[in-house]
Amino acid sequence: MSTEPAAPLEPPVETPRTLAEAYALLAGAASDAPLRPLAGATDLLVQLTGRTAPPPARYLDLWRLAELRGIAVDRSARDALGRSDLVLGALTTYAEIRRSPLCREFAPALVEAAATVGAAQIQNRGTFGGNLANASPAGDTLPVALAMDAVVEVGGPRGERTIPAAGFWPDYRRSGLAADEIILRVRLPIVPGRETRFRKVGTRRAQAISKVALALSWTDSPDATGVGPRVWRDVRVALASVAPTPMRAPATERILEGSRPTPETADRASVALATEIEPIDDVRSSAAYRRAVAGRVLHRLIREAGGW
Ligand SMILES: Cc1cc2nc3c(=O)[nH]c(=O)nc-3n(C[C@H](O)[C@H](O)[C@H](O)COP(=O)(O)OP(=O)(O)OC[C@H]3O[C@@H](n4cnc5c(N)ncnc54)[C@H](O)[C@@H]3O)c2cc1C
Repeated sequence: MSTEPAAPLEPPVETPRTLAEAYALLAGAASDAPLRPLAGATDLLVQLTGRTAPPPARYLDLWRLAELRGIAVDRSARDALGRSDLVLGALTTYAEIRRSPLCREFAPALVEAAATVGAAQIQNRGTFGGNLANASPAGDTLPVALAMDAVVEVGGPRGERTIPAAGFWPDYRRSGLAADEIILRVRLPIVPGRETRFRKVGTRRAQAISKVALALSWTDSPDATGVGPRVWRDVRVALASVAPTPMRAPATERILEGSRPTPETADRASVALATEIEPIDDVRSSAAYRRAVAGRVLHRLIREAGGW
């Protein structure tokens, strides 16, 4: 049997110049041969051999769509509580996230996650939208999107809609996108007083897929009496690589909700987390290692927040 790598397959590529053109192409695609969106191609290039899945009939290259670019604060989204959104076009690359003063100010955990993806080549070409759409349970930005209550704006010939990150990955390697929909942009609510932290554990600092990635967010709030010490509210513990989909850890969140980042709370939360996740043994790590490390990572982030 030949050990030669399979020759790359090159299905035809459609290159719309506007979103309207893209929608028209999506509308014209046969339902049994949908157009496959193509952004930075860092995931798709690996799939070009056709070994992991049959190649699509045609690609839809999104790269020229200006409507899918840019990073901005949308103050029109401001609600009664004074909130606005950080909005990132789907084609925003990791390098752009790392360079963006707005991301550094309003989404430092996303900047941290972007800095851990691949290495410089991948960061210059791979996109935030591609990471979300690819729906890998090991995608590094996915826990940050969950912890920040991201909302994904998607569109297609049948109209545009929003999908909360919490419902965006219904199953293993599946996203909530229909075959004729693309991600347009991602909204990250800017919540006054909210802190979000991210930590990834991989084999090495670059070019390593996560063994465990964890994002933790909270808002420092007055306690119920209004006179006691401030406590954590709206706690989110979100993880990648420890379950078939990216996940929140509600039992662990309940332990942290209304508490202070003390050593006792950190101990209880990290024990709870190790039992709440459902990791597998695979080529990158063992389930036992992932359970232990997820708990340690959470403990470390709580310790850093508590300053002890
Ligand atoms: C060497 C290497 C290292 C890597 N390291 C990491 C890592 O450390 N962490 C990590 O999380 N990932 C890593 N990846 C995976 C990959 O780089 C990311 O998932 C990246 O964000 C994918 O974005 P892309 O623009 O290249 O997507 P593409 O490859 O173009 O597309 C990926 C998938 O998303 C779909 N898609 C893309 N954009 C859209 C859109 N706007 N709307 C709808 N569907 C869309 C495509 O159809 C395809 O199914 C690595 C990949 C390589 C090759």
